[in-house]
Amino acid sequence: ASIFAAVEMAPRDPILGLNEAFNADTRSEKVNLGVGVYYDDNGKIPLLGAVRAAEKARLEAQPPRGYQPIEGPAAYNGAVQNLLFGKDSALIANAQVVTVEALGGTGALKVGADYLKRLLPGATVYISDPSWENHRALFESAGFPVDTYAYYDAATRGVNFTGMKTSLEAAPAGSIIVLHACCHNPTGADLSDAQWNEVVDACRARGLVPFLDMAYQGFADGIDADAVAVRAFSASGLQFFVSSSFSKSFSLYGERVGALTIVTAGKDESARVLSQVKRVIRTNYSNPPIHGGAVVAAVLNSAELRQEWETELAGMRDRIRAMRTGLVDQLKAAGATQDFSFVAKQRGMFSYTGLSAAQVERLRAEFGIYAVSTGRICLAALNSKNIGYVAQAIAAVTK
Ligand code: PMP
Repeated sequence: ASIFAAVEMAPRDPILGLNEAFNADTRSEKVNLGVGVYYDDNGKIPLLGAVRAAEKARLEAQPPRGYQPIEGPAAYNGAVQNLLFGKDSALIANAQVVTVEALGGTGALKVGADYLKRLLPGATVYISDPSWENHRALFESAGFPVDTYAYYDAATRGVNFTGMKTSLEAAPAGSIIVLHACCHNPTGADLSDAQWNEVVDACRARGLVPFLDMAYQGFADGIDADAVAVRAFSASGLQFFVSSSFSKSFSLYGERVGALTIVTAGKDESARVLSQVKRVIRTNYSNPPIHGGAVVAAVLNSAELRQEWETELAGMRDRIRAMRTGLVDQLKAAGATQDFSFVAKQRGMFSYTGLSAAQVERLRAEFGIYAVSTGRICLAALNSKNIGYVAQAIAAVTK
């Protein structure tokens, strides 16, 4: 018999399954709000001008394609550190920061998880309730038990901060706490600056190990403003992990550009930690691909391209905000009986709309509008052409 004869079919990814159903839908007015991708007002994934310029220069230079260092190039890793901590950070000056290039935010989380499993083999990982659906699977695949901390409050459509603190205070010392640094996926509900300071205090008091997931830096309020959580932990004297993704902020999804950053107590620790993280990488994929990281580094390390990128990033951020306020206004205009003003207060690409699974199903069946059954929608999939239609449909199914 075949060695595969008894293999069971794995459950399919709920969001990719949604895309398949969307693609098979023949209605011309269909809208896919289930995705986790930024589209421009024409419904296209943008190729940023700063990226295009950096790519053109790279191609013209015809660089050789040798292996990269296991940890990726210093020009890239240094640029990532500057984005996270600010270029005048004492942590960077003190060599307390270790950064390795990784295959997107997902790759950064996985390298971090694999390293943490060696460092803290008995730890439990806590993720927010709810969280990005891959967090649980990823940390479980690294061998950790995964539990949740209280996070979303359906009644206020914001954060249940009292519940969150109670959860953190009950977590065993040495637990790993995965935190969304900004633009919480899937809820769009973020902590305030003051609440971040309280989370830092709770982590210190309980001896917890923070792992900040930064997948949307620049998508809420700006590059520095969105680093408030990272900066709060930087000032704390604690050791912590950060995963960065440039999938959204550079619109480079398929290039797989990200980084894992670890803050240590000092230079000597940094060297030892880096040597161990390099072992994890070496046995997984040896070293990162060149192109995406080279493009991001070229943009971040050129004053001119960096300015262009910041302008383009602000454009994406502003468009998402306009879609948030536009949806609130158009829902009202469409006669929605519910108050949707919370949509304008949430941040990042997503909103937990409060739509039930049955209402989401009606959106699909009656209107060809696809959303995740939890009621999560992607605001960046709305545009000036489809927003009115989507508002009418949501108003209709929530009457
Ligand atoms: N973390 C969160 C919270 C995300 O939303 C995403 C992307 N959807 C990632 C990590 C992974 O990013 P990447 O596509 O760069 O692997």
